[in-house]
Amino acid sequence: MSDSDTRDRSEALRTPIVAVLGHVDHGKTSLLDKIRGSAVSEGEAGAITQHIGATAVPLDTISGIAGSLVDPDDFDLPGLLFIDTPGHHSFSTLRSRGGALADIAVLVVDVNDGFQPQTEEAIDILKRTGTPFIVAANKIDTTPGWNPQDGEPIQVTYDSQSDRARSRLDENLYEIIGQLSDSGFSADLYWRVQDFQANVGVVPVSAVTGEGVPDLLTVLMGLSQRYMKDQMAIDVEGPGAGTVLEVKEEKGFGTTLDVVMYDGTIREGDEIVVGGMHEPIVTEVRALLQPKPLAEIRTEKRFDRVDSVAAAAGVKIAAPDLEDAMAGAPVRVIRDRDREAVIADVESELAEIQVDTEEEGVVVKADTLGSLEAMANALKEAEIPILRAEVGDVAPRDVAVASTAAEAEHQIILGFNVDVLPNAERELEESDVRLFDDDVIYQLVEDYETFVEERKRAQQ
Ligand code: GDP
Repeated sequence: MSDSDTRDRSEALRTPIVAVLGHVDHGKTSLLDKIRGSAVSEGEAGAITQHIGATAVPLDTISGIAGSLVDPDDFDLPGLLFIDTPGHHSFSTLRSRGGALADIAVLVVDVNDGFQPQTEEAIDILKRTGTPFIVAANKIDTTPGWNPQDGEPIQVTYDSQSDRARSRLDENLYEIIGQLSDSGFSADLYWRVQDFQANVGVVPVSAVTGEGVPDLLTVLMGLSQRYMKDQMAIDVEGPGAGTVLEVKEEKGFGTTLDVVMYDGTIREGDEIVVGGMHEPIVTEVRALLQPKPLAEIRTEKRFDRVDSVAAAAGVKIAAPDLEDAMAGAPVRVIRDRDREAVIADVESELAEIQVDTEEEGVVVKADTLGSLEAMANALKEAEIPILRAEVGDVAPRDVAVASTAAEAEHQIILGFNVDVLPNAERELEESDVRLFDDDVIYQLVEDYETFVEERKRAQQ
């Protein structure tokens, strides 16, 4: 038996969890791919570990990529865990309390495009959750003329086409800094930032050429080490806690949960409590699954079973009775704790995101608890009342509920990032209920407001 097996309680520093956010097409997926690619080409087998829903890049690999910028001896955090699903899904699952999914965020902004609606949305959520973030000013390769300032460490070497081009890139970067400032953040190019808690660092990168990626990893690692170390201290052997990323049907396993664990350990056979659509679900872990190594993925079985998983990690949980589980909901291992207390804890965490509903109003459907909360906030600001709000695809029941509204402007379903179930499609056609759906909250609210205004005008 090794030392760690004989220890009852073991304090350890876990990997900080990083989410990548930003407007569609600004390069979130490409940036994640590039980080994974850089880690793999760094050489050593096991340079990265693929989890369910996340990728772990260990400190040694980051150091390999960043060269002299990151000396492993200066760090005691084990690396970074990147949430694989960029954008709305992961950011809307960011949570304000206990179960904060991401410790840090990278906000990707296309350097030529600047702030866009989803950038603003991301900023709102980062503000609300108090999540520290840095900005990756992406696609610098498309604006030739990046000029390394003051010989500082950024490893970007461009053939500058002309002085004008160079200043255009500079202008774009300063515009982003200005936009951050308009949003209430003091920001600067990252090498000028002394205190990353007080200032948002802007890192120019290219997800295509990889330039700036070492700098980005360096800043993330440095920021975590300097400001997050205390938060990363966990009791690794303690009862696990996590957040549901996705609820998924899996052949041979039924309904499963893709979960990011941010505390303790989860083991096969553990009794767990999961936030459900109607009430907390108490069930027992039948299997914990991790992706097969890439080389073996051709085989039928896509997963390896593991006995236990320690935070921070992404894992698929197979267990009975998960049908009503919600993306964004908390997962807690009961183990030696009082079951009722753990249930109460899950309930109180869910209660924090209960939406205020009224007697009359619209029906709201969203893909995760976090996005439902964001929708509710946006509707409240626009003074649009909500009759009912739920996580999940648009179902016939939603159409039935919406059709009971007295006013046509409330016979409405607002769907954020959701699908319409086939039966509901039929019901929608046969009723007066109108569906507005979008994956940009502002757009959804705006479309609905335009509809209401046009109706009013038509009635006058
Ligand atoms: P996402 O929607 O934010 O995930 O954006 P994607 O990663 O899918 O990128 C959108 C498009 O921009 C794709 O065609 C990418 O190839 C391209 N792209 C992303 N990053 C860069 C970059 O740094 N430079 C260039 N030239 N193109 C990029």
